[in-house]
Amino acid sequence: MKRVGEGSYLEPDLDSGLQYLEGKKKLKMSQNNIGIIKDNCCGCGICEAVCSAEAIIEKRSVRNSIVYSVKDSCINCGLCLRVCPVNTKEFNKKNDYFYRAISKNEQILNKSSSGGVAYETSKKFIEKGFCVYSAIWSVPNQRVEHRRIKELGDLKSIQGSKYVQSVIDKSTYLEIKKDVVEGRVLFIGCPCQVAAVRNLVNDSKNLYTVDLLCHGVPSPNLLSEQISYLNIKSIRNISFRNRLSFTLSIESCEQIYEVDGYQNPYYSLFLNYSSFRESCYKCIFACEKRVGDITIGDYVENNKGYSCLIPNSEKGTEIVKDLFDSMRLEKRNILDLKGNESYYYPTKKKKEVEKFTRLYEKYGLILAYYCTFYKLAIKKFILRVVGEKTYSHVKSLFKKQS
Ligand SMILES: Cc1cc2nc3c(=O)[nH]c(=O)nc-3n(C[C@H](O)[C@H](O)[C@H](O)COP(=O)(O)OP(=O)(O)OC[C@H]3O[C@@H](n4cnc5c(N)ncnc54)[C@H](O)[C@@H]3O)c2cc1C
Ligand code: SF4
Ligand code: SF4
Ligand code: SF4
Repeated sequence: MKRVGEGSYLEPDLDSGLQYLEGKKKLKMSQNNIGIIKDNCCGCGICEAVCSAEAIIEKRSVRNSIVYSVKDSCINCGLCLRVCPVNTKEFNKKNDYFYRAISKNEQILNKSSSGGVAYETSKKFIEKGFCVYSAIWSVPNQRVEHRRIKELGDLKSIQGSKYVQSVIDKSTYLEIKKDVVEGRVLFIGCPCQVAAVRNLVNDSKNLYTVDLLCHGVPSPNLLSEQISYLNIKSIRNISFRNRLSFTLSIESCEQIYEVDGYQNPYYSLFLNYSSFRESCYKCIFACEKRVGDITIGDYVENNKGYSCLIPNSEKGTEIVKDLFDSMRLEKRNILDLKGNESYYYPTKKKKEVEKFTRLYEKYGLILAYYCTFYKLAIKKFILRVVGEKTYSHVKSLFKKQS
């Protein structure tokens, strides 16, 4: 593990915090707590989980995302800042190779987003008696959240990328901490969540982590708004893609709503990178030095979908060794990932984001989407009616005429 200064804010000053508590020192309120993180907050919620003074408050930020701040009862102990992922200074060294990875099991593959590496890795841990924390659609809470998985039968719920921020509440963080003390834990999530969990357990030898190549997440509030607009209740499952196709499928007790991603305002905004949290547009984790023991993402070769699997640490190499019997793994040069932007830099914020954000405050998700992206919506509508071939033909005729 190499120390790098990238993305660090203030070193939490625990000595000062203690002196303050003993009445020997006066600190400015915002000096030694997450008050300094502001819009860089990625909403992981770990500060709330560690603060014994219950001094952390949630605030609504742009595009209905939640950021965290402190209130007057804060005793400036610095603990929240120490676990805050935005303050991360330790990253693994950059690797110069990755594996093209694909599950040998067709059924697993068909339910996964790319090569099924998340499922196969989790399966290995559960077979050895350990537990896995991963994002699922929670039926009781009607939202995507991280949950503890202990049974092989429950593993299907982790499959598929859910393109929304997954909530990790205080009780789940405490459960992870307890499980890490008692045995091995595999945590799968976005890099900021992985960093938060690593900070929580002091990077314990019992914690194994998988970070996703991640270009950003919208707030769960936006997804709820879309679901209310569609008037779908009691959702049993939600899926955003199937290998190479970006189809939104929402399954409730009464119906299955299924639509091409670009025909749905919420998903179209996601696919246009226009509804992410503010922190995602300046993400410190979108780089070649990773926080997880392995990194997984999409990889396409000869038009066929695979996962890419990058081992980043000794624990990562250990994980990969175990996967050879259930997955086809082939080594590739890291330069073959050059088309995957999330491995190199954060998503660039387009000018439409500001327009959408302004309109969203006034009119809500659906109207703001159509007002900002009406050209795209019309294009996608025509494409659906006349098909790709006719559309391209007519477009080229127009071009020739002008
Ligand atoms: C929000 C998001 C953005 C992504 N951006 C990129 C990208 O820019 N480039 C790229 O190459 N790949 C990206 N991915 C990863 C990609 O979609 C696949 O997850 C990856 O290829 C692994 O494939 P799989 O077949 O193993 O995964 P899957 O079957 O998709 O399983 C992936 C794992 O991720 C977990 N997961 C699903 N949704 C979430 C969530 N919202 N938050 C945290 N964990 C979640 C699942 O529980 C599961 O453990 C992104 C994933 C997510 C969730
Ligand atoms: S500095 Fe300490 S008391 Fe203040 S919010 Fe952070 S954890 Fe809570
Ligand atoms: S990034 Fe996480 S720990 Fe840091 S302020 Fe935001 S919610 Fe708190
Ligand atoms: S882009 Fe960065 S900040 Fe946003 S969810 Fe992904 S890892 Fe977290």
